[in-house]
Amino acid sequence: MKTIAIALLTLACAACASTPPATPSSTMQPMTSHALAQPTATRPAHAGPIQIPASAPQASLVMGTVPVGSTLIYGGRAVRIGPDGRFVVGVAREQTGTLTLNLTLPDGEVRKLDVAITPRSFRVESITGVPEKTVKPPPEIAARIEREQAQVNAVRTRDDDREDFEQRFIWPVQGRISGLFGSQRIYNGTPGAAHSGVDIAAPQGTPIHAPAGGIVTFAEPDLYLTGGTVLIDHGHGVSSNFLHMSRIDVKVGERVAQGQVIGLVGKTGRATGPHMHWGMNWFDVRIDPQALLESEGVK
Ligand SMILES: [Zn+2]
Repeated sequence: MKTIAIALLTLACAACASTPPATPSSTMQPMTSHALAQPTATRPAHAGPIQIPASAPQASLVMGTVPVGSTLIYGGRAVRIGPDGRFVVGVAREQTGTLTLNLTLPDGEVRKLDVAITPRSFRVESITGVPEKTVKPPPEIAARIEREQAQVNAVRTRDDDREDFEQRFIWPVQGRISGLFGSQRIYNGTPGAAHSGVDIAAPQGTPIHAPAGGIVTFAEPDLYLTGGTVLIDHGHGVSSNFLHMSRIDVKVGERVAQGQVIGLVGKTGRATGPHMHWGMNWFDVRIDPQALLESEGVK
């Protein structure tokens, strides 16, 4: 049965399976509040400033500024440009080489903006001898998981003009980090899903704080894999998700402020013990939450 649980977990919250049951920890980290990535390179002005970082790590957000009235295309998607020219795009965990944004300035001039993607190393564990039939859930469970994932995916298509993502993010829960973003298990040579967020060990019932302001777009108490699940939209496609919650204190459509309690830590869904799983997305691209907390400006 343990193998089944591990296999199912790879579908949504891979490294939660490798997360030891969280115990109350005395090694609390201070609640941190770090700057989001700031532009590190400024290019010559053309009808206004163009600012974009020269490089960005895998699984991070790239923020920049282009002249108001421009259009910006990335990966076939029209990127929202705020009233101040600010935009954000996501770099995927697997993305390598150069990220290219196609900019058309208000006067029609076309430019390519390149950002060098800095590779990261992610933990990979290989597990062999797993009975093949336990790697896949039974059909009725698989159907439920698929249905619930589709609901979550749907709210991640939202592209609001709010710019809550520009806030300095704070940790939703204080505690020891018990699972890193991006770690991956390989079963009988077949890669499972990479861990989609960061796990923070915290006792059952610990309050969870919104890491930045936003609108609650999803709040369900009992998803099969992720249990009590909340999503907060921070604007321009940036969203946070909080899994395995024992209590949810917010409703869909509700505006939350940074630091507001949205619910309590739990072990609902397929979790081996109480912990806070915090994931972040740019639309369907998964972002390492720690990339927002440990960016430039950390002393
Ligand atoms: Zn997790």
